[in-house]
Amino acid sequence: MPLIPATAEVQESTLEGEPERPPSLFISDQARKRSGIETAVVQRRPLTNELRTVGRILFNESALAEIVVRVDGYVERLFADFTGMQVKRGDHLAEIYSPDLFVAQRELLLAVETGNDLLIETTKSKLRLLGLTRQQVDEIASRRETLERVTLHSPIAGTIIEKRVVEQSPVRTGDVLYRIANLESVWASLDIYELDLQFVRYGQLVEIIAEAFPGQIYSGRIWLIDPVLTEETRTIRVVVNISNEERKLKPGMFANAVIRSPLQADGSARPSGVEGQFTCPMHPQILKKDAGKCPICEMTLLQIGGEESPPTSDNLPLVVPASAVLDSGIRKLVFVERRPGHFNAVQIQAGPRSGAFQIVLSGLNEGDIVATRGNFLLDSQSQILGLPSLLDQEGAGDIHKQHSPGGEKAEPTRPTAPKSTPQPHKH
Ligand SMILES: [Zn+2]
Repeated sequence: MPLIPATAEVQESTLEGEPERPPSLFISDQARKRSGIETAVVQRRPLTNELRTVGRILFNESALAEIVVRVDGYVERLFADFTGMQVKRGDHLAEIYSPDLFVAQRELLLAVETGNDLLIETTKSKLRLLGLTRQQVDEIASRRETLERVTLHSPIAGTIIEKRVVEQSPVRTGDVLYRIANLESVWASLDIYELDLQFVRYGQLVEIIAEAFPGQIYSGRIWLIDPVLTEETRTIRVVVNISNEERKLKPGMFANAVIRSPLQADGSARPSGVEGQFTCPMHPQILKKDAGKCPICEMTLLQIGGEESPPTSDNLPLVVPASAVLDSGIRKLVFVERRPGHFNAVQIQAGPRSGAFQIVLSGLNEGDIVATRGNFLLDSQSQILGLPSLLDQEGAGDIHKQHSPGGEKAEPTRPTAPKSTPQPHKH
C-alpha cells in the first residue's frame, strides 16, 4: 500500500472551558487527491432489507377435514372413489350399511308410536351421534321409514388427498375413510435464521416463487412466527398464507421466498401495516378494518396488536455507505472528517447492513462526514502515528504525553508523532 504524508495534530481548544478535542490525523489536499480519499455524509434515509429464504408448500391445516365413520358396518357404495377428486361441501362420499344404525332407527320408530317426547328426543340424539343429520333423523320420524344405509357427506369443499376405503369393505366406528383438503389456500413454511428474525414481522407481505413456476410470483402474509426454534436446523418456522385459487401450488413443492422489510432506526423491520386491524385466529386470511365475526367460522375477530407508525424522518435509519466501516471482528470503526482534512477514528455500534449501506446505531450523527474510500490508508497512517486505529483502540500513546518521561505507552520502534512522518516522505 503506498503510504501518504500525514501528520497527527493536537487541536487547540478555541473556547475556554471547551473540552480539548482528541488529536486527529491531518491529510493535506494534495495527499488526499493522490490517495483517492473520498467521503460521504451520514444521513437518515429509507432502507429496505431484502431477506431471501427457502421453504415448502404445505396444506393449509385449517382447511383439512377427516371423514370418520361413526358406526360399525359395511361400505356398500363409494361415490368418491379416487384420490385427487374434487368435492363440494355436502357432496356424498360413501354409503354405509350398518345393523347398529338399523336397530337405532327401529328404536326411534317405537318411541314415536308411544308418543313419549323424552324417549323420542333420546333416540333422535342417538341417531345423530351415529352420523345422521338432523334433517335425516326428522325425516325418519315423520315418514316412519328406516334408512337402510347412512350416507357420508363432505363437510368442506376440497380435494380428496387420502382415501382409505374400498367398496364392500367392513368399517368400524372411528375409522378415517377420507382426508379432504381445501387447496384454495396453501401455506408456505419458511425457515428463518435467528439473526434474520429482526426483519420478520406478523402481517408482512412475502413473495413466494415455486420452483415449478419460476415466472410466477405469489404473495401472502406472514401470520405465524413459530414460538419455538427448530433445534436441528437452528431456524425458526414462519408460515405464510397464500391464495391458490388456480390450485397450481401443490403441498410438498419447494419454494423460494423474498421478505422485503423497510427498516426503522434501530434496524428492525417497520410495522407491517396490519396493526390495529382485525383477524380470525382460525382464518388468518381474514383481515378487516372493523371488529366483527369471521365470515367463515363466525368466531369473534381479534384485534392485531402493535401500532402502525408512519415513517417519519426520526425513525428512519441512520446510515453510512458500507465501505466506510472498518471491521476488526470485535470493533467497527469509521473515519470522521470533523474539519477539512482532519480525520478521527470513531467507533460505532452498527445495526444490520442492507445492500451498500450500513445502519449506525450509535457513534455518529446525521451530517457527519465519513471517509468511504481510502479509509484503510487512514487507518494505517493512524496506527503509524500512534493515533487510535482499528487494532489499537487507544492509540500507541497519547501524543500529549509522548515526550514526557512517563510516556511509556509509545513504543520505541514506532515512529512518534508529530516529529516523524511516514515514508515515502516527499516534500
Ligand atoms: Zn374464522
